[in-house]
Amino acid sequence: MRTGSMRVADISVGAIRKNVGRIRELTGDANVIVVVKAGGYGHGAEIVARAAVAGGATMIATADLEEALQLRECGIDAPLLCWLHGPRVDFVPAIEQSIDVGISHLRQLEALAQAARSTGRRATLQFKVDTGLSRNGASRDEWDALFARGAELEREGLVSVRGIFSHLANAGEEADLAQGANFDEAIAMLRAAGCEPELIHLAASAALFTRPELYYNTVRVGVVAYGLSPIAGKNSAQLGLTPAMTLRSEVVALRGVPAGTGVSYGFNHICEVATTLALVPVGYADGMPRALNGAGAWVTIAGEACPIVGRIGMDQFIVDVGRLGGRIDLGEPVVLFGNPERGFPSIDIWAALMRTIHYEILVGIGPRVLRRAV
Ligand code: PLP
Repeated sequence: MRTGSMRVADISVGAIRKNVGRIRELTGDANVIVVVKAGGYGHGAEIVARAAVAGGATMIATADLEEALQLRECGIDAPLLCWLHGPRVDFVPAIEQSIDVGISHLRQLEALAQAARSTGRRATLQFKVDTGLSRNGASRDEWDALFARGAELEREGLVSVRGIFSHLANAGEEADLAQGANFDEAIAMLRAAGCEPELIHLAASAALFTRPELYYNTVRVGVVAYGLSPIAGKNSAQLGLTPAMTLRSEVVALRGVPAGTGVSYGFNHICEVATTLALVPVGYADGMPRALNGAGAWVTIAGEACPIVGRIGMDQFIVDVGRLGGRIDLGEPVVLFGNPERGFPSIDIWAALMRTIHYEILVGIGPRVLRRAV
C-alpha cells in the first residue's frame, strides 16, 4: 500500500505519446521499438510501455527476459523483445509468452531450440550482432555458424528468425558508418544463409537525429521516448521532445534561523544572513545524488528557484527559502526536476553538475518514489 505523496515521479503519458509521435515523424515508415529496460529508465516500465504503444510504438524492448515477463504479467500484450541473458536462462517462459529473444551466440541459440522442443512451440528470435561496440552480440567470426544454424532450426520449425540488430558505439560520429557497413555485411550473410529478417535495427536515440541513413526499417530508442536529449549541447525543446518525468516532493518542515546557522551534517553550509529553511523528504536513498551538495543545484518552490543547501541525507535535504518571504506553508509542492519549459530545473542540470548522463540519474531513482501516470 502507498500512503503518502512525499516522493512522487509524475510521468506524463501525453509527453511519451508525443515523443513517440516525434520519433515516427522523423523515421517515416520505420517500425519504432521503445526500450523500457531498468524500469522504463526509472519512469515505471508498465506506464511507459502503455504510453509508447498508444503513441504508435510497434514493439517494446527490455534487456532481461525477467523484465519482459513482468510486462506480460501487467497485461502488456504488445510485441516484446529482450536481449541480455545469463548462461542458465530458461527460455521456456519467453516462448510461452511470445517474447522475441535476442540471440548473441550459438549456446543461446541451442538453449532456445531446446526450449522450443520442450514446449512444442516455435520460438521467435532476433540475432544480435556486435558490429563494433565490443559488448553483447555475436562477433564477426561467429556470424557464419550462428546464421547457418538459425536457418537450419527455422527449417526444422523450431525457431522463427524475425530480426537482426546491433548497437552503435559513437552515435553521430564517423565510427557509426563503419558499424553500418559491418551491419550490412551481417544482414547479407543472414540472407545468404536463407533467413529473411522482418525487423532490421541499428539506430538508437542519438542516431535518430544524426544518422537517418542508419534507420534501416526499424529504430530502437530509449531516452528520446522519455523526452530527453541524446545529443550533448542540444536540449529537449531544440529536438522537439518533451521531458516526461516531473520529480516532486513537498515541504515537511519550515524553520526560521539566524545568520551563522550551520546546516546539515558537517555544517558545510552556514547561513550568511537570517533566513528560512525548508525540509524536503527526498534523499540519496531516493536517487538524489549526495554530491549535489554545494554544487549549486536548486528546486522550484512557489514558482521560484530556491537553492539546495547543506549535505543531502539518506531521506531528506534542505532548501533555503528565504527569498519566498514566508509565503509558503507545510505541504508546499517542491519540484526537483521536470520540464524546463514549465520553469522547473532540468534533469540535465543535475547531470552536468554530477558530470554524468541523465540516464544514470533516472535509473537511480529509488523504490520509495511513487511513479504516477498523469
Ligand atoms: N538498444 C540497446 C541494445 C541498448 O542497450 C539501449 C540502451 O542502452 C538502447 C537501444 C536505447 O538507447 P537510447 O536510450 O540511447 O536510445
